[in-house]
Amino acid sequence: MIVKSEEDFKRLPETGHLKYKPDKLYELSANLTVFTSPEKEGLTRLSKFPKLPHSSYHIDPSTSSLSLLSILLGQYSYKPYAEPSPPITFSLSSPPPPSLSPLLTSIFASKTLINSPPNLLNPTIFTAITSNLLPGPWKEIVGPELSLKFKATSAVGSASLHQPRILKYRHVGEGPLFTIIGKSVTFDSGGLSLKPSDSMINMKKDMGGGAIATGLCMLLKASNFNFELILPVVENMINGEAYRLGDVIEHDNGLTTEVLNTDAEGRLILSDALCWAEGGDGYVIDFATLTGAARVALGVEVGMYFTDDDELGERIYRKGLEVKDPVWRMPLYEGYEKRLKGKISDLTNVTRDGGLGGAITAALYLKNFVPEKKKWVHFDVNGMDEHGMGEANGLRACWEVIKEIVKEEKNRK
Ligand SMILES: [Zn+2]
Repeated sequence: MIVKSEEDFKRLPETGHLKYKPDKLYELSANLTVFTSPEKEGLTRLSKFPKLPHSSYHIDPSTSSLSLLSILLGQYSYKPYAEPSPPITFSLSSPPPPSLSPLLTSIFASKTLINSPPNLLNPTIFTAITSNLLPGPWKEIVGPELSLKFKATSAVGSASLHQPRILKYRHVGEGPLFTIIGKSVTFDSGGLSLKPSDSMINMKKDMGGGAIATGLCMLLKASNFNFELILPVVENMINGEAYRLGDVIEHDNGLTTEVLNTDAEGRLILSDALCWAEGGDGYVIDFATLTGAARVALGVEVGMYFTDDDELGERIYRKGLEVKDPVWRMPLYEGYEKRLKGKISDLTNVTRDGGLGGAITAALYLKNFVPEKKKWVHFDVNGMDEHGMGEANGLRACWEVIKEIVKEEKNRK
């Protein structure tokens, strides 16, 4: 299927280029070729399993579920605008674990969202697709209501032809409340602090946080866990309405921010999302392609995260290693907080010292908006692999931790 219109595009998550069809997985049984285990190949990141030549393959019954996942993750491709490659098929001697299909579907959906071109995946289409992926009760704040309540998102998206908005999806289910937030900038030009062309090339991925958060919530929903998903959705562009350097933004929690760089828009829209989180106990996990500093520090394969909670921090690290979705914790070093103090406002959106420790100061900025009592984890990830293709860093590490937390709470009761 070649996408020619927005209507075609809306159908992508169901029909499109997610070549793997979970229900067909073990219907095929001809042309068997035996596989070796990807674990023997020393993969540090599961999705790096090599793409196989077009054929039918048999997966040996001794293959572990992690290996199977690795093989299938490696076969993802996104080429809707070129001649499609012939399909690769797999056969198994026994049914795959039931967890496999939802996991692949959610990861492939995240990747497809990230890989989608920004002329088609604008805020309107992004909204349509995420509401297809998670059918049910969405709330959308847009227009005058947005400019009254969530001024940061309204300001960041003001120069786009596509209206900025914040979306919320609530699913009442088992376990503590997980608030999952994802930065969803469908294209980031940098605004008036315009990016040079080389830095703008991959900026369709700036909704990567929203894509990963949506993928994660597809799993939470399939397991009937208690969660809300909040997505601030904007396109950061330039016209006469663009927000400016020097603008002061009032946030819903009473704080104010002076904008010193319009390319540090992610933390602004995330502040609105954090303000909209439901109160009380529970967890807040946000995903964002937030800073170049994170990429410089850890490269594209290792997701960076921050939390004040040592136990939770350790758990995420261990699970990441276990399921080969590597993540690394960085410090919320309080000593840098003063660098975000404004001269005429409570906060500035970047420090005035050239961005030293930029991933940390971005995280410290967000901390001002996290509701009290919540356990908070902030992921600053690249959202793309080394080939510039979508990558759902941290999704599986988080998913494993969430499952464990819900199980533990059940056992306590
Ligand atoms: Zn930016």
